Formats: sequence, structure tokens, C-alpha cells
Amino acid sequence: MDFKETLDEMREVIKNKFVDSLYPSYLVEKFDLTIMESLEICVTLKNEGLVLPMYEVRCPRCSKVLYRSQKLRNIKDIGNCGSCNKNNVDLPVLSFVLQ
Ligand SMILES: [Zn+2]
Repeated sequence: MDFKETLDEMREVIKNKFVDSLYPSYLVEKFDLTIMESLEICVTLKNEGLVLPMYEVRCPRCSKVLYRSQKLRNIKDIGNCGSCNKNNVDLPVLSFVLQ
């Protein structure tokens, strides 16, 4: 699948709200893209106003999303997971949340 076909398919996925967020690493795996191609698709969708880039912090134990922030400087070193009571946060992951 080439870049344009992948982009068209992702527009359909977003329009039909099959997902609520996109991860560049997921697109790499699903469509056999390079990370740069995947980021280019995400940024194109962002420029079309379809998704919003967010940094996402997950619990390292149970993977629950603890919070999302548009700004990296708002990411705290420590967070508390209500699900498993672990008092740590993982490294933030860039995701693109549907608008
Ligand atoms: Zn947890």
C-alpha cells in the first residue's frame, strides 16, 4: 500500500470513528511504513484538522492511560495510577487523538 492509499484509509477510519486515537508505531506495524512515513501521515491528518497531537502517559504496570497533554512540559515525573495504585509514570508516548 502506498502513502496516498494509506492516508485515504486512515481518513476513512477516522471519519467512521473506528478508533479514538492513532499511534505512529501502530501505523508502522499495520502498513509496513517507516516511522517517518507514519509521522508524515499523522501530521497530514493533523493539518487537515482531523486529529490533535497529544503526549500520553501510561501506567508502566497496567498500561492504563493516566493523562494526555498537548505540551511536553506539562508531563510530570510521577503520577498515580488509580487502577493498580502504582505511583510511577512511564515515558510519554506521542499519540494523535481524534478531534
Ligand atoms: Zn496501573
